[in-house]
Amino acid sequence: MPPRIRSTRTVATLTATACLLVPAVPAAASGGHGYRPGSPGLGDAYFPEEGNGGYDVGHYDLALDYDPASNALVATAKVKARATQDLSRFNLDLKQLTVKSVQVDGRKAGFSRKGQELTVTPARGLRKGTRFTVTVAYSGTPKPISRPDLGTFGWIKTPDGAYVVSEPDGASTWFPSNDHPLDKATYTYRVTVPKGTQVLSNGVPGGESTRGGKSTFIWNERSPMASYLAMLAIGKFQVAKGRTASGIPVITGVAPNRADELKPIHQGTIDAIDWEEKVFGKYPFASTGGIRVGVDVAFSLETQSRPIYGYQPDTPTIVHELSHQWFGDSVSVARWKDIWLNEGFATYAEWLYNEQHGIETAQQTFDYLYNQPSTWKYYNDLWLNRKTGDPGRDELFEITAYYRGAMTLHALRGRIGDKAFFALIKAWTKAHRDGNVTTRQFIALAEKISHKDLDGLFHTWLYTQTKPVKW
Ligand SMILES: [Zn+2]
Repeated sequence: MPPRIRSTRTVATLTATACLLVPAVPAAASGGHGYRPGSPGLGDAYFPEEGNGGYDVGHYDLALDYDPASNALVATAKVKARATQDLSRFNLDLKQLTVKSVQVDGRKAGFSRKGQELTVTPARGLRKGTRFTVTVAYSGTPKPISRPDLGTFGWIKTPDGAYVVSEPDGASTWFPSNDHPLDKATYTYRVTVPKGTQVLSNGVPGGESTRGGKSTFIWNERSPMASYLAMLAIGKFQVAKGRTASGIPVITGVAPNRADELKPIHQGTIDAIDWEEKVFGKYPFASTGGIRVGVDVAFSLETQSRPIYGYQPDTPTIVHELSHQWFGDSVSVARWKDIWLNEGFATYAEWLYNEQHGIETAQQTFDYLYNQPSTWKYYNDLWLNRKTGDPGRDELFEITAYYRGAMTLHALRGRIGDKAFFALIKAWTKAHRDGNVTTRQFIALAEKISHKDLDGLFHTWLYTQTKPVKW
């Protein structure tokens, strides 16, 4: 059974004007020396303007009032953060939408917009270590981001509601955020919709109430989460509830026109998590499940605790998206160039699942790819065009991170043996749970556990643009 070529996603090059480096200004408002603006980006080589420096978000409390008929959103975001430097001002990422007011700790703050940067100047400077709450009142009709090769992501309207898939930088289409995986935070959503419409999200439900023709749904994600994994699904859903073998609550929702998919997705989720806990270690979050939206789109996304499926998911797809709960969601990249740590692992999870369910060994899948002739459609993409460990912003979701990433893990497994390899996988998810990682850290842990020098292997597989012949 040949591996499926997953839908490919690319991120178009951002225009130069989208990158705004705001020059420092004297921190007059701070009334003191040493206060300076937080940086307008987090230094990611692929997305220099994503995220912002000078503070660390602990929690987002998002109150959203949404009307599916008009796609109108009226919202208040409370962003609880801690200053990591003496701050005269700082930025949040927010694309489109209209900001009505900004407060810091209940006091009116100055603000300005330029591109995706919302610059907030508090009435007084914020000393390093200070905890503060930014309250942003905003509204508008949220629009997704459309890029030529990536398709459409961010806030996406459906006939009876909307849903959100934000990788890599779509979170800022619907709430002001520190939009980079490095700044993970917990979330509370309070979403008000017309009575009869439902809201599903990450984490666990915190109750719902109805008043005056409107219903408010509360959801809480209590584990740290990267902003691109924040998710809403608004509309009408059929919902199934259950538990995994280890007792994790499962909530699965499908649009009414996909009712026949409810049972397979729900049971498929339980089966996948049961198997994955054995291979990857304890499931990292308080709940799981899945959401099948009513429209067919080209991709699914591993939104934290509850993936969104844009097409009818087969077993490998469910295994893939749920394996990301460990690889990507709990153990998150510190920089986008290490995307293979997400996609290589999730692809290899599919191979391992097949192997342990008598379908095809990982070696057979590896050989299938390795033995493709140079006339194969994906030959150059897999071997020559990109470095797996640094594929380039436009190729984040192309096959090198997925297939050559998985092949890297298989090559590693061959070198260090099954015992060390499977110990490494569990050690990796445990050591970095709720954290951020780089490839360098993975290599270090692999060397520690295997007592082998693995620099050559990883260099060949991740950082050369050749087909490896020896490793
Ligand atoms: Zn994936």
